[in-house]
Amino acid sequence: MKSVEQHVSDLLALVAVPEATELDLLRAHGTVLAEPVVSEVSLPGFDNSSMDGYAVHSADLEHASPTSPVRLSVVADIPAGDPSPSAIRPGLCARIMTGAPMPTGADAVVPVEWTDGGSVEVLVERPATPGGFVRRSGEDVEAGARVLSAGTLIGAGEMGVLAAVGRRTVPAVPRPRVVVLSTGEELVEPGRPLGPGQIYESNSYMIAAAAKEAGAEVHRHGFVGDDPVSVRDALEGLLLRADIVVTTGGVSMGAYDVVKEVLSRQGTVEFTSVAMQPGKPQGHGTIGPDGTPIITLPGNPVSAFVSFQMFVRPVLRKLRGLDPAPLPAVRARLSTAVTSPKGRRSYLRAVLAPAAPGAEAAHTVAPAVRQGSHQLSALADANGLLVVPEEVTELPAGAIAEVLTLPGH
Ligand code: AMP
Ligand code: MG
Repeated sequence: MKSVEQHVSDLLALVAVPEATELDLLRAHGTVLAEPVVSEVSLPGFDNSSMDGYAVHSADLEHASPTSPVRLSVVADIPAGDPSPSAIRPGLCARIMTGAPMPTGADAVVPVEWTDGGSVEVLVERPATPGGFVRRSGEDVEAGARVLSAGTLIGAGEMGVLAAVGRRTVPAVPRPRVVVLSTGEELVEPGRPLGPGQIYESNSYMIAAAAKEAGAEVHRHGFVGDDPVSVRDALEGLLLRADIVVTTGGVSMGAYDVVKEVLSRQGTVEFTSVAMQPGKPQGHGTIGPDGTPIITLPGNPVSAFVSFQMFVRPVLRKLRGLDPAPLPAVRARLSTAVTSPKGRRSYLRAVLAPAAPGAEAAHTVAPAVRQGSHQLSALADANGLLVVPEEVTELPAGAIAEVLTLPGH
């Protein structure tokens, strides 16, 4: 059997980091910047007030105090967005709002809280520091400065910076387009009545959600039955939409394992057994005229989920221009004993929790009771996958084990 690591590296070899394109700001969220972003503007672009108050000559207020407030005439009102505030001479002031441009002459702002709030004349009870409550042009970003580096993952903060410096588009790696297709004659769309022997189709919803969580743009095709023609037609129809195709089901040793049957014939997809549990039967390769990468996951829902996290997620990260790192791992103390087949690495659904302060491992981990690869219920609660190495067949309660943390928790 092939090792998990070997399979990961074979899958990563299937795809190349795509070229960056100029993406509209709205599409750039969650993508990786391909080039540094240099600001063409200064932030702030002009001196402006950081408070609602009065723009003043600070020298006028040298002796202001609550017992002898200084009286100034208010000669203008400057709202945010005022294109040309008039200049302020000594002895005078202007009412000014947060973000409004400083009038020439004035060198400080007095917050309205230090005054009687007058609109014709104002009494000021405290002296003003030169430059006080004024945001200087360029104090945040100088025009020509680099605001983001190449390789940055564009999150909410980066979106704010890009918009603030006026960028409409950025060179970034677009999200990979993933098409998800399930197979199985027994499957029924959720919401419809079930017939005898039928089950609700869950893999395509689950894998589409996991792919979205991994940063892909997802097209959930749904499912097709177990006949070769439907599977071939569906795959052909999907290729236009896909940077990568992910299927579930039909790759084991059964008589109706149609994905394997259809794709083996083409000779471009390889089916293997990986030394893990769940998730042993795996397939990967390319299909169609453009050699679109395809990953075929097993049909048992938990196997499909675990295989996605171990194999598809790193591939999607590579396609996004990110480090194809595995799920982050922590070390945790096991609450109950677990067993695992010899020669296969187990990934057990588990609940990670913080350990008591001062404990040797920062976490405790409780493996789910139901670990069958068809048993979905524990997946909803699990926030980690407990790893039992290939050569280990038993871990006692209290052992320290490696746990992969699942996304979205
Ligand atoms: P297969 O790999 O196609 O033999 O499927 C293995 C098991 O997973 C069978 O019990 C299937 O009924 C079940 N299964 C396969 N595909 C799905 C799916 N899309 N949703 C829910 N269960 C599935
Ligand atoms: Mg099937």
